[in-house]
Amino acid sequence: MACNSVITPLVQAYGILHAEGHGDGTLGHVSLRHDDGISFWIKRADLGFDEIESPADFLRLSLSGDVLEGDGPRHSEWPIHAEILARRPEIGSVIHTHSSSAALLSACNRTIEPLTPDGGYFSQAPVPLFRAPKAHIDDRETARNMVESLGSALALLLRNHGLVACGSDVAQATLVTLFLERAARVQIQAASLQIGCEPATPLEASGRAAMLHSSSFVAQTFASYARRLSRSGRNGHSP
Ligand SMILES: [Zn+2]
Repeated sequence: MACNSVITPLVQAYGILHAEGHGDGTLGHVSLRHDDGISFWIKRADLGFDEIESPADFLRLSLSGDVLEGDGPRHSEWPIHAEILARRPEIGSVIHTHSSSAALLSACNRTIEPLTPDGGYFSQAPVPLFRAPKAHIDDRETARNMVESLGSALALLLRNHGLVACGSDVAQATLVTLFLERAARVQIQAASLQIGCEPATPLEASGRAAMLHSSSFVAQTFASYARRLSRSGRNGHSP
């Protein structure tokens, strides 16, 4: 079983994402690459984001989906995590949520624009839009096609479904998720204004995009969210 120091950021990520509206019953998941590089931690499928508290709430899966540690049901969309971790060695954490603004924006065949600072984080390259041939990305071939669409990006919109985000660690993947959903929400609000909104140019927004790759910015911002979680009574530390 994973030690608490390894699992703590993962527990915090689940709590932060729940607090920021990314929970969907027991659906959605955050993964963390294990030290061996070829397996990963992910929550059990029968718990919601807000119920994740300790190492016992996680399974360790191989990149082929075999359960190596832990008890409980496995999420059917585990291939999302396995295929990204297999093909992107620089990625240490993957997140999939059914956040409603990302799903709605994708349904409009639109992707993220740098209208506000949140959109600016993604201004260096368009966030890909992936349309799966079915409701769930629960087989490896569909997941491989999704990773092909993701390319070298840190986020992808799943059409009529939600988002996939990744990062070098849990903190970066969490911020990518939060910023992407907020950017999508603002774009939907902008569409209702019925007046033109002019996005920042890539040059204007480039400083914001660079922040998403700053390890100090990512660590500080994640720590701030974790402290907020702690003040709300959920400290993200395993008992
Ligand atoms: Zn899903």
